[in-house]
Amino acid sequence: MKKKKVAIIGAGISGLTAALYLKRANIPFEVFEKTAEVGGRMKSELVEGLIVDHGFQIFLTSYPEALSVVNYADLEFTPLTKGFTLCKNKKKYFLEYPNGRYRNVFNMLRYPFMDIKSLWNMAKIVVYLRSTSLKKIFSQKDIPTHKFLKNRGLSDDFISHTLQPFLKGIFLENNLETSSKVFQYVLKMMLSGSIVVPTNGMGAIPKQLYKNIGTNYFHFFKSLEKIENENLFFEDGYKTSADFIIDTRPKTFQKKANQNSLFVFITPNKVLKACELAVFENNPLGISNLVQFSNLYVNSRDVEYIGISVNNKVSESNKLDSKKILEYITNYFDTTDWKWIKTHHIPYGLNNQEQVNYSYKKEIMAQKEKTYLAGDWNLYGSTNAAIHSGKCAAEAIIRRVNTNI
Ligand SMILES: Cc1cc2nc3c(=O)[nH]c(=O)nc-3n(C[C@H](O)[C@H](O)[C@H](O)COP(=O)(O)OP(=O)(O)OC[C@H]3O[C@@H](n4cnc5c(N)ncnc54)[C@H](O)[C@@H]3O)c2cc1C
Repeated sequence: MKKKKVAIIGAGISGLTAALYLKRANIPFEVFEKTAEVGGRMKSELVEGLIVDHGFQIFLTSYPEALSVVNYADLEFTPLTKGFTLCKNKKKYFLEYPNGRYRNVFNMLRYPFMDIKSLWNMAKIVVYLRSTSLKKIFSQKDIPTHKFLKNRGLSDDFISHTLQPFLKGIFLENNLETSSKVFQYVLKMMLSGSIVVPTNGMGAIPKQLYKNIGTNYFHFFKSLEKIENENLFFEDGYKTSADFIIDTRPKTFQKKANQNSLFVFITPNKVLKACELAVFENNPLGISNLVQFSNLYVNSRDVEYIGISVNNKVSESNKLDSKKILEYITNYFDTTDWKWIKTHHIPYGLNNQEQVNYSYKKEIMAQKEKTYLAGDWNLYGSTNAAIHSGKCAAEAIIRRVNTNI
């Protein structure tokens, strides 16, 4: 009997995961990717000897779906400090997460925007999240994170001077309109594992999957134009057919996108002493955070890598140049020896996350008899969601192939 063939559209994390699961099930497949390389939104490139990510991203070792596809031991993870420096009114304030240590809980009370009631209510959220499954968290009603935090008794001061500056770099939006399910998910993941980045950049994760799958399954510069029944038509005129299709192209037309830009600088000096992340009060440029990596992403030991994330719309941030960013940052750090090396604009960062799902509903995933959808776009913006969706699409096809339906 002829084996069924699967075409996967897109070599981002979800497409790569689908490919890996199909390979393990011994089902023939091909991957068609629009660009020159794998990774989608999770890519790194070499600029002036530095490995630079397309956007500031972190990997949480507790992502439940990642363990079955990513080989952690091979990636040389570097942990980020669990804490941040808030930059506000030309002053800097350091906040360390308690990390299970009572001493740190008391230290938190020294942070000027912390009050006992908020600390106590935050602790209650933490206790709840530790004992609650992700499935249960995602079965709650979607409400904006700012409303959830207020309902849970956190003070306005604590929300706007602690959580908002930190979370806007994760949500890629400034007003905490993102569903509180995403907030709870991120916090639960942070509490149960480490916050890390691979020493060779986030792009090392998709590259690892690509290597493990086998490079001969991939076709690059193949941009899909349309699908008609089992036929796939590409923009360069190439045509092919498949028994099943997994389509991971982000469906930007369905939901609004959260946009982001990353400005990358190098400097010979360390600018952050106590931790590696600084977050910013609301500012006209939309700067959300600054991250410094020492001897990480850097081939030369003489320079430090500084990445500054901006959440403003791309049309606006295109007009912003690195000089304006530096002018603002000078309020907090000495930037005299900083050299700009790259700006990445990411028009489609994350889908708007006011309403999120834990997994694809069957009727959404199997849109047509032969086409399955995957990708983080209809779930929540996370590597874990992308992996989960790719796995579910592959498993649905594996079931059909094995039962000959
Ligand atoms: C700035 C930023 C920060 C982030 N931070 C984090 C973080 O800290 N932690 C975290 O877990 N997640 C983070 N994410 C989210 C994470 O990167 C995504 O959830 C994940 O990479 C999505 O993978 P995907 O496969 O669903 O989609 P994509 O990566 O978008 O993959 C889709 C692929 O399809 C290809 N494609 C598109 N159209 C076509 C076509 N017509 N034909 C063929 N191929 C096509 C694209 O080129 C791409 O390779 C962040 C994202 C951004 C942008």
